[in-house]
Amino acid sequence: MKIIDRSDFTALISELIAEDPREVVGVQADGDGYVFDSLESASDLAFEYDLTRLSPKKYVMPQRETLLTYRRDAGAADYEMRAEADPTGRIIVGVHPYDLAAIRQLDKIFIDTLHDEPYRRKRENSVLIGLTMQDVADTCFAASMDTASIESGYDLMVTELDDEFAVDIGTFEGDQLLESVPTRNATSEEIDRVETIETDLEAEFERGLDFPPAELPSLLEASYDDMDFWEAYAEQCLSCGTCNVVCPTCFCFSVDMVRELDGDSGRQERRWDGCLLEDFATVAQGENFREEVAQRHRHRFMRKGWYIYERYGDIACVGCGRCTAHCVAGVADPCEVYNELREAQHA
Ligand code: SF4
Ligand code: SF4
Repeated sequence: MKIIDRSDFTALISELIAEDPREVVGVQADGDGYVFDSLESASDLAFEYDLTRLSPKKYVMPQRETLLTYRRDAGAADYEMRAEADPTGRIIVGVHPYDLAAIRQLDKIFIDTLHDEPYRRKRENSVLIGLTMQDVADTCFAASMDTASIESGYDLMVTELDDEFAVDIGTFEGDQLLESVPTRNATSEEIDRVETIETDLEAEFERGLDFPPAELPSLLEASYDDMDFWEAYAEQCLSCGTCNVVCPTCFCFSVDMVRELDGDSGRQERRWDGCLLEDFATVAQGENFREEVAQRHRHRFMRKGWYIYERYGDIACVGCGRCTAHCVAGVADPCEVYNELREAQHA
């Protein structure tokens, strides 16, 4: 672990903004909240934020992106197709551990399993500078999901210590980033202090799962047919899909063919989709496999706590609390739903 002066860290971010060809994005105050956005100045960075509206997922899996383009000369019979894979990476500063954990899950799915080239190129050209949490959102339950601190998944992990920062180096690229600024090795007291900050943070969480997340798959499997439970929750749901959109681990997408009016060119686009939206499970001929809100509602919680675990080995909720914060109907909260299900099973 290294120690870097606050002024040198600021100088490093300023240098990256000025000289690195990649866009530097970071957490900034925006009205009454926080967002990840393009950084114009290192002084805009927020270090004591609780939760951003959207996660940095939007940089590695954009809300819309072109997968292929096609074109033919006017009157020609054949089209020329071209695969597209936007390689634009960014330097992303100030990522909390739960969002790093979410990107680690996406890496496993898109790079290790699906070999998705557009995702891989953006991800491999990106740099993740993590930030130890100092403030906890009311809706966040990351500590109980084991994502309030993290040991990997970042290039650099920064912890604020008064006028200095402790920096844990996660990758070779992270190490190289530090080359242009003075650093020194952390003392054992400073390393202990970082650990104490992480441990003390756990006491700041006002809510959490009442049981280990590892019990979720069996809990959900046993609850699948309890439609009274799912219908009671779904009664208030507006099927707006907001809980899907704000989630750092949701990765479902739709693919559309967009044809230009000339008839000779077009593109294939993918865009975020959400399992709470009414048409999500509609297939050809209009058949909808999850026509009822309760079915879609149940599916979302099953997928987060059971299906994804079965397939990829991760519980697909990192406990950020964004879905809870943004659901106007107040029925998107996995912590509440899972705790109630568990209580009902043990009643
Ligand atoms: S649970 Fe809430 S955020 Fe999600 S679709 Fe229903 S109303 Fe919208
Ligand atoms: S389900 Fe909700 S709390 Fe869990 S990761 Fe997604 S947005 Fe965060």
